[in-house]
Formats: sequence, structure tokens, C-alpha cells
Amino acid sequence: MDIVVLIKQVPDSTEVKLDPKTGHLLREGIGSIMNPDDRHALEAAVRLKEAQGGKVVALSMGPAQAVDIVSEAIGMGADEGILLSDSAFAGADTWATSSTLGKAIEKIAKYDLVLCGRQAIDGDTAQIGPQVAEYLGLPQVTYACDIEAARDDGTIMVKKRGEGGYEMVQCPLPAVLTVIAEMNRTRYPAIGRLIDACAERAPVQIWNAADIGAKTGEVGLAGSLTHVIRTFAPKGGRRTEMLEGDTGTVVRTLLEKLQEKHLVLPGAQAGAVGQEGKKS
Ligand SMILES: Cc1cc2nc3c(=O)[nH]c(=O)nc-3n(C[C@H](O)[C@H](O)[C@H](O)COP(=O)(O)OP(=O)(O)OC[C@H]3O[C@@H](n4cnc5c(N)ncnc54)[C@H](O)[C@@H]3O)c2cc1C
Repeated sequence: MDIVVLIKQVPDSTEVKLDPKTGHLLREGIGSIMNPDDRHALEAAVRLKEAQGGKVVALSMGPAQAVDIVSEAIGMGADEGILLSDSAFAGADTWATSSTLGKAIEKIAKYDLVLCGRQAIDGDTAQIGPQVAEYLGLPQVTYACDIEAARDDGTIMVKKRGEGGYEMVQCPLPAVLTVIAEMNRTRYPAIGRLIDACAERAPVQIWNAADIGAKTGEVGLAGSLTHVIRTFAPKGGRRTEMLEGDTGTVVRTLLEKLQEKHLVLPGAQAGAVGQEGKKS
């Protein structure tokens, strides 16, 4: 089975801090890592390849230094790595990111599965996987936590996590899956493969906009459907207000406060509470 795995380089911290004046991400003193969910997607891809044969291609979009995670992916068992890097890709929103990754996958052409992490720990939108599927016109299964080997009828069985349990989904190939950490325990990169990858003996290709046939206006800021007007950190702190009185008074006051904040419908009444404050 031929598999493309989408991997993103992210800051090594789940606590993204912003400069209060500029709204820019504060990256000082924070290293970069492969997005944690993506490690599990890569591990799943390598295990499928080991069981069934085929090829694993690790694909990332980012600045030149993102080559580090592509090399690491090769160390973990990917056969090839591709980094999409071009100043034309700068300022991409999630749609421009997804369609650029989609164009590269179209260029790769031979694949049965596209695996990506559920969510990146910096952007946190979880939009890329579903949007890549939409761009490529492929079926998708999100929150995948187990994958059975491909079947003879050209389908795959995927276990996906839902709110109250699990679902088994049979899905035709090719397909896009977004993977959660429950999928597996990831391996460490093999030292020999990692050394080869870092010594540039491994096949990491760098593709620019022209390489994937992207026209001006289709990628980066120009190809983005959304634009960030302002970035700011949410105000910290909580305010606690104690409501005094008997149960009936407290419930009515609480209801009024929730209605003021539009958290319950205006028609809601404290009618279920009797005059004496006892529930009727
Ligand atoms: C409105 C808006 C405007 C933005 N503007 C900018 C901007 O101007 N400049 C800027 O740098 N960023 C910008 N971003 C952030 C950037 O678009 C996102 O980081 C990127 O689209 C990925 O989204 P995410 O991190 O939420 O990924 P998620 O959807 O949470 O990631 C899910 C999975 O998709 C895959 N994936 C995600 N990104 C990549 C990637 N780059 N390469 C390979 N695989 C990937 C990974 O497998 C990942 O686990 C903007 C985002 C939004 C919503």
C-alpha cells in the first residue's frame, strides 16, 4: 500500500504565547518538533507498509528548517520525504495550506491512503485533513485509532473514536484518515537512517510553487479565503459570584443571569420551582 503522510513542524509547546503589542507568536527559546499526532500517523503508515509492502512518503509544507522533521520521518521509516517550501506559500490560511498539500499529493499521483494527524498543536483547527479530502474528492475518516490491512475488495476497515464509544467504518480506497494518539506507540528514529537523512543522503525533495503547478493567487496569502484581522490572547482570570437566598430565589436569579448572557432561551422559566423554594 502506498501512503502519503502529512507532517507539520510545530513549536515544542502547547502553550502558545503571543506578543501583546504585535500579536505575533513568541518563538524565543522554543524549539520545533514534529506535531505529536503526526508521529502516530507516520507510525501507522510504516506499520502498514511493513505488513503489506508499498511505500511511505512524508510530505510537509513549511519554511526551510522544516526539512528537519522530514529527515526525522525518514529516520522513522518513511521511504521518501518532500518539503513544500516557497515564499509564495507564506501567509496561507487552512484552505490555502490544504489545497497546496492537495496539489502536491496530485503530483505524487500513486497513493492508496493519505494519513495526517487529527490536529496540529499550534494552529489547532483540525481542518487540514478534511479539507485535503475535499480538495482531492476522496472519502475521509477522522479520529482514526486503528486501521486494518487493506482488503481484496479495495476497501479498508477503520476504527474511529466517537463521543460515547467507537465506530468501525469500511471505507473505499484511496481515502484520507486523520489519526489520534490512541492509534499506536511511536518508535524512535533508527540512528543509521537518521544519520543518512541528516547527511542529505536521504531522498528529501524540496518542491516550490512551480513544481506543483500552482498559479499566483492560488497559494499563500493570495490563495487564502480568510484573513487574520487581529491576534490576541484571551483575558485570563475568572469572576465568581455567590448567589444568596433560598433555593427558589437562587434558581430564579441564576436563570435571569443566564438569560442576560443569552445562555438560555428567553422563554425559559423557573416554573419548576415552587414559591417556597422547593422543587415541585
Ligand atoms: C484565518 C487563518 C489565517 C492564517 N494565516 C496565517 C498566516 O498568515 N501565516 C501563517 O504562517 N499561518 C497562518 N495560519 C495558520 C496556518 O494556516 C495553519 O497553521 C495551517 O493552515 C495548518 O492548520 P492547523 O495548524 O490548524 O492544522 P490542523 O488542521 O490542526 O492539522 C491537522 C493535520 O494536518 C496536517 N498539516 C497541517 N499543516 C500542515 C503542513 N503545513 N504541512 C503538512 N501537514 C500539515 C498534519 O498532519 C496535522 O496534524 C492561518 C490560519 C487561519 C485559520
